[in-house]
Amino acid sequence: MKEVIMFTAQNCSSCKKAKNFLFQNKIQFEQKDINVDAEARAELERRNIRGVPTFRIGKDFVTGFNPTKILKLIDHRVIECKKCSTKIRVPVNKGHIEIKCPKCVHEFNIDTQI
Ligand SMILES: [Zn+2]
Repeated sequence: MKEVIMFTAQNCSSCKKAKNFLFQNKIQFEQKDINVDAEARAELERRNIRGVPTFRIGKDFVTGFNPTKILKLIDHRVIECKKCSTKIRVPVNKGHIEIKCPKCVHEFNIDTQI
């Protein structure tokens, strides 16, 4: 499954919107604030990207909060184990699959179609 990084900056209102969107859609992501993270800033500069939010989804970059593009590129959702509420990352559009909770080893079926 692809790693999702969101590049943000302080006082960026679209970043806040984008963050809520990612939570609502149960997407697991890591946040990098370019105001404090020099390495993250350099990563965007190397690619001539000037705006935030910018998303790195696997190898693809999306600049600006573009929900349609983001959802198209993301290949996972986060679900909760029905027994112990551990968050588990699962693939999307793989039909019905069996999940085993890494914590309590509870097994259950989920529909990954979205
Ligand atoms: Zn569990």
